[in-house]
Amino acid sequence: MQSIMTGFLILLLAINSIMVFQLRDMKRTDIIRHLRYMALGVAGIIVPEMVILLTKDRQIAYYAFTFYYIALAWYAMMIFRFSVSYSGYQLFKVYKSPFVWITVIESAVLIWGMFSERVFTIAHAKWYDHIYWICRGFSMFYVYAIVSSIFLIGAVVVLMIAATQSPRIYRLKYSGVAIIIALMVISRLNSQIRQQPILVQVIGFAFGEIVIVYMAVHYAPKKLNQRAMQFVADKLNDGIVLYDDEHQLQFVTTGYSDAVGFKGIQGISNEEMYWTKIISGANVGNAWNGRVMSVARDDDTYYYEIQHMALNEDGKLIGTVYWIRNVTESIKSYGEMVCRANFDELTGIYNEAHFHEMARKLLEENPDTDFVMTCSSVEKFRVFKELFGQEKYDDYLIRTAESLRTGLVHIPHCVYGRIGEADFYIMMPKEAFDPQQFLDAIDGVANAYSTNNFNLIVKAGVYEITEPLQDMLAICNKASMACDSIKGDYGKQILWFDENIQKESLLKERYNAELSTAIEHGEIQIYLQPQVDREGKVIGAEALARWVHREDGLIPPAYFIPFFEMNGRITELDICIWKQACEKLKEWKEKGRDDLHISVNISAKDLYALDIYEHYVSLVKEFGIDTKNLKLEITESAIINDLKQHAHLVERLQEAGFEVEMDDFGSAYSSFNMLKDICVDVLKIDMKFLGDTENEERSHAILKSIVDLSGELHMKTIAEGVETEEQFEFLKGVGCDIYQGYYFSKPMSVADFEAKYL
Ligand code: C2E
Ligand code: CA
Ligand code: CA
Repeated sequence: MQSIMTGFLILLLAINSIMVFQLRDMKRTDIIRHLRYMALGVAGIIVPEMVILLTKDRQIAYYAFTFYYIALAWYAMMIFRFSVSYSGYQLFKVYKSPFVWITVIESAVLIWGMFSERVFTIAHAKWYDHIYWICRGFSMFYVYAIVSSIFLIGAVVVLMIAATQSPRIYRLKYSGVAIIIALMVISRLNSQIRQQPILVQVIGFAFGEIVIVYMAVHYAPKKLNQRAMQFVADKLNDGIVLYDDEHQLQFVTTGYSDAVGFKGIQGISNEEMYWTKIISGANVGNAWNGRVMSVARDDDTYYYEIQHMALNEDGKLIGTVYWIRNVTESIKSYGEMVCRANFDELTGIYNEAHFHEMARKLLEENPDTDFVMTCSSVEKFRVFKELFGQEKYDDYLIRTAESLRTGLVHIPHCVYGRIGEADFYIMMPKEAFDPQQFLDAIDGVANAYSTNNFNLIVKAGVYEITEPLQDMLAICNKASMACDSIKGDYGKQILWFDENIQKESLLKERYNAELSTAIEHGEIQIYLQPQVDREGKVIGAEALARWVHREDGLIPPAYFIPFFEMNGRITELDICIWKQACEKLKEWKEKGRDDLHISVNISAKDLYALDIYEHYVSLVKEFGIDTKNLKLEITESAIINDLKQHAHLVERLQEAGFEVEMDDFGSAYSSFNMLKDICVDVLKIDMKFLGDTENEERSHAILKSIVDLSGELHMKTIAEGVETEEQFEFLKGVGCDIYQGYYFSKPMSVADFEAKYL
């Protein structure tokens, strides 16, 4: 028991020492000085008590008692002096020496008693089954005890007077300390009168000191904070509303009703999260509904700039603050100029400049937080616009912005904006970023705009901002590079940026910059892949683009075609390829080989960028070739995009004598269904769409029925990607007309082709 108590006292001593240590750093006011002395006094009390608890030696115990009472005398006197200066009474400063002298005399008496044992005596006594040293005083001791109690009682009285004279919010500050000291006195008298060990009072004194330091130094009345806050808030003309975690109104500025322009503030406590509703339910048809949004009231429109902040602690929401500024005047008088500078007019969220600015600010203000930048972007948005019109497209953008607003409202430190035509950027703390949730949100909006004919696909790139100091444009670019690099890739919807993406993207940029000169210098060339009939006789070839780069050598189309399809420059390239094909056909014709045809690829983009019909008609005229020798491959997916219009184009091309092939037939969803609306001359089936299936029987059955069906619809079939003899034999068996693939030959340069087949 003794050792447990000693341990406990050591703990109190430690807390006490830490407090003294902390006080050392504070400004040296009288109060702080007194508190430090008091803390020393407590140490002077605890140490002898530990000796008393542990020793069996009566003499040592007696000395320890003496030191204990001396320390107690000084402690009591210091408490008194502390209370006086704490209460703000200057008067006693002048008379401080008498108190010191009284304590000196007390100490002297006790020291004298140490040798004569005439002040008190000690003896063993049992208390709660344990043996303790206890002290019995003689008359001299009572004089001493009364004097030191007077100090303590005096302290209580001074503090109580101060409490009654001070404003209400400060009462606890004084009366609290007074009560603590009163409890000390009571515990002291109690153990003295009932002849108990001094343990209880030591603990009381030590605790008392801790509470007093807290009250005097650290405690600031809560009401004072609130009053200060109210004071500041009242000075503002803005409305600030604070809700707690249960959406209960906690605080509102008096300026609120003026700021908001409503008649009175009644009702806002009932209208739970009134502003959240406005933010999330904002009528997006209005021009200024983002961070600045309009609210129609009393036949008038008000504009508010609303800042919204979720207060979090340990990742949990503890409250929400809305800072509402009525910007109606400025918006109306400045002709909405201010907002126009910062907000995207269509969606009401940040525009590029303001997004960059706010994101930069966020990074600077939170240097210890890891952030991610995301970029999300619609694939083929021009096609979407072409198909559904500007209005529908705008509607999609507005809906996306709206979903950002509602989805991100509770994520602290998050900014978002619309940049460019179709890209949305979000910057948020990495720990708040959930990729799946993010994609679900994106798809949620996009799916609503997809139809049978067009899938609205949104791709996303994410960049973890590892170097927050780099330019904001560079940060955004990295997210955007990651996003762009998966456009056209059906398997991927989101990609995190890494160095390779940057390299690849720089390479593409380079190719993009070099394309025109490459075309001029003849670096873009056709390679020919033979097409054979049932007997294996070459009857023509498909023209496939190759870039014979002066530095990088032969570049296969996979490196540049998808990219040029994306940015629209494919048309430039295709025109060049078609021309080369026509040149070749002309040459062959002159050599008497007009039995050979060349198939060229037409990209989906070409269908929008060019008048294909006009272009081809004038091409054959220019080169004096026969339309039947130039075959046109259009991919199934390109045709599906706008079936009606393309069916018409195909018809006209056929009337002019061209043979139109539907490339990659079977790769899209509704291949068969489409055939009722469009009539091409040839279906081109790529073996890879069937080749890898586990069930060979089934794919054979499908192939067979495609060939049968095409026969019934008076279309021919080409099988491409034929790699093995078995494939060839099977295809022959089902009645396929033309074959192309590595089994016969890889694509080869024109020179090689001519050497071999001409
Ligand atoms: P595509 O039109 O489906 O062309 C067939 C692709 O399959 C060619 O790839 C060809 O080399 C390859 N191939 C041929 N036989 C076999 C085989 O037996 N097995 C396998 N695994 N592959 C075979 P390439 O030349 O790399 O072209 C890829 C794609 O690039 C083409 O697919 C086409 O969509 C596009 N492309 C190529 N040249 C042009 C062009 O001039 N204009 C346009 N718009 N696109 C082009
Ligand atoms: Ca093709
Ligand atoms: Ca193909």
